[in-house]
Amino acid sequence: MPEALVCHASAMRAMVLNAPRTPLELQWRTVPSPGPGELRLRVLACAVCRTDLHIVDGELPLPVLPIVPGHEIVGIVEEAGSVGTGFAVGDLVGVPWLGHTCKVCEFCKNGRENLCDAPRFTGYHRDGGFASHVIAEAAFCLPLSMLGADAVHLAPLLCAGLIGWRCLRAAGDGAQRLGLYGFGAAAHLVAQVATAQRRQVFAFTRPGDLATQDFARRLGAAWAGGSDERPPASLDAAIVFAPVGELVPAALRAVRKGGRVVCGGIHMSDIPAFPYRLLWEERSLSSVANLTRGDARDFLAFAQAHPPQVHAATYPLEQADQALADLRNGRIEGAAVLVP
Ligand SMILES: [Zn+2]
Ligand SMILES: [Zn+2]
Repeated sequence: MPEALVCHASAMRAMVLNAPRTPLELQWRTVPSPGPGELRLRVLACAVCRTDLHIVDGELPLPVLPIVPGHEIVGIVEEAGSVGTGFAVGDLVGVPWLGHTCKVCEFCKNGRENLCDAPRFTGYHRDGGFASHVIAEAAFCLPLSMLGADAVHLAPLLCAGLIGWRCLRAAGDGAQRLGLYGFGAAAHLVAQVATAQRRQVFAFTRPGDLATQDFARRLGAAWAGGSDERPPASLDAAIVFAPVGELVPAALRAVRKGGRVVCGGIHMSDIPAFPYRLLWEERSLSSVANLTRGDARDFLAFAQAHPPQVHAATYPLEQADQALADLRNGRIEGAAVLVP
């Protein structure tokens, strides 16, 4: 690395994806200035999401390359752009996946900005938080200081928590017995939210993953077992977080009449054909895409009232590839978090 840049206050580090299925490259760059309505943050922590893995693995179309991944960013405002941003230098803020919306499409106008026709997602359309600094649109940044936790333990709330919250909403308030398929970063938070709401959680892990089943029980799950097992009671709803299509018919089989199955991931392997009787009797199957700022507001207020136990495995920024590999191989309990 160029020594002149290392010592210079205006240099930043970024882990850059140049092409899918290649290692991230550590680059030194000039620290950018925020434009009107933007903030420059010094990144304190950035959690690693399964979506980052889908991006790096080329399982999603890549609209911008090279790109700095990372969309669960916690940082301190270093500089605010010329137009009023609502934030001041020194504020602790979060940057989630939804980084920009058009505000004029039918979805934006109808309270469904998560489905905006022309969105910009953090770490996908614009450089994200696998870096020492990031630029973000202030209108999509979230104030975090009221939560009183440190950056490492706040970062996983910004996607795992938020998307989990939206999935839980989609599962329905009446979903008393809730199945969670895949017990990673999102499920470990949703399990705690659901338990705080006095729901019963049934956690499904990879078959034989006794350590994760034990982890789920420690976080309040009433039952934990392999995804090849049937739960001891029929479920009112299930959320599928694991990107495994085979889990969809398994989840439909586990829910009662009128039950809901919600897919929470951005990518999933193909869903195998299944008999219509699994969907019959008014079971429903849907997906959850992205988040709205309303979801963020509601979830962060809930997290303030009921602080979740966030389990984080930290990695230095430069070990982003190792964090991604550990996530790919199911070796992380809770969430992986990069610290620059
Ligand atoms: Zn995410
Ligand atoms: Zn829009």
